[in-house]
Amino acid sequence: MTIADLLSIDDLGGADGIEDVLRLTDSFVEVTERSIPRVPALRGKTVASLFYEDSTRTRMSFETAAKRLSADTMSFSVASSSVKKGESLRDTALTIEAMGVDAIVVRHSSSGAPHRVAGWVDAAVVNAGDGWHEHPTQALLDCYTIRQRLGGLGGLHIMIVGDVKHSRVARSDVAAFSALGAEVTLVAPPTLLPPSLEGWPVRVSHDLDTVLPGADVVYLLRMQQERMTEALLPTLREYTTRYGLSRRRAERLGAGAVVMHPGPMNRGVEIAPEVADLPQAAIIDQVRNGVAVRMAVLYLLLGSGPEKVPTAERLVEQAGVA
Ligand code: ASP
Repeated sequence: MTIADLLSIDDLGGADGIEDVLRLTDSFVEVTERSIPRVPALRGKTVASLFYEDSTRTRMSFETAAKRLSADTMSFSVASSSVKKGESLRDTALTIEAMGVDAIVVRHSSSGAPHRVAGWVDAAVVNAGDGWHEHPTQALLDCYTIRQRLGGLGGLHIMIVGDVKHSRVARSDVAAFSALGAEVTLVAPPTLLPPSLEGWPVRVSHDLDTVLPGADVVYLLRMQQERMTEALLPTLREYTTRYGLSRRRAERLGAGAVVMHPGPMNRGVEIAPEVADLPQAAIIDQVRNGVAVRMAVLYLLLGSGPEKVPTAERLVEQAGVA
């Protein structure tokens, strides 16, 4: 598989492309576990991060991934840049590219911003979250984590609970989980669902307690208040009572069920403080796997050299990590 940019889960062309990334990730997990977790795969390449929105995990994880592949990194932060002087996204992207970068990792509050950047620059562009639209590397690390815990996604029942309306994670997860054969149920009050779910391969429930016992994975979303322009809930407390994963609800989950969250968590709102630390919770695994998944994505975009390689196995061989 060859791709020029990763803007959306669909860029991977379905289950086979996603599986290729997951297989490649296996090799990079092995690298991250070495005493010196570094390979020369991207020596001489430069990866820039262009973040117009706050981030802890995604930004650090992309930078760590690039460094572990021996790439040089450049980091752009709106707060300390000429954006404050009125520089446009296009001029900023072209300026960064002119310094000689091979990939730009873009996060922006507007849906579609990374697609615009990809149209302006020759460098590979990775979408690190755009508005309510997509967050493809989060979905890939989520698939990887589920596969690691449960062996695969085919036939699983995955409940995505909470503020789906404002969630780019939910959009990418639904696409990736269903491509890999999972059955996805969105669990939320009507006001926190998108106005139309036409074309979404999902079921919908407004009652967490009914669907919980059948769940293999419960994926909790943060209440993304910074993206809400109107009052969508009577009170946060009522939301927590009806949709929060409390200790009592967690006890009703099946023995092998997995609890996930993309972070940042609001303990005490969508997830009870102690539930986030239960052995069923894979939240720290998600973060850990994020580095190897992003190594795989950067390698896929930049590492294959003049001869574009067709299979993950060949990619792994070239990376010298098999
Ligand atoms: N970190 C994720 C994102 O950037 C989820 C969240 O913010 O709630 O979309």
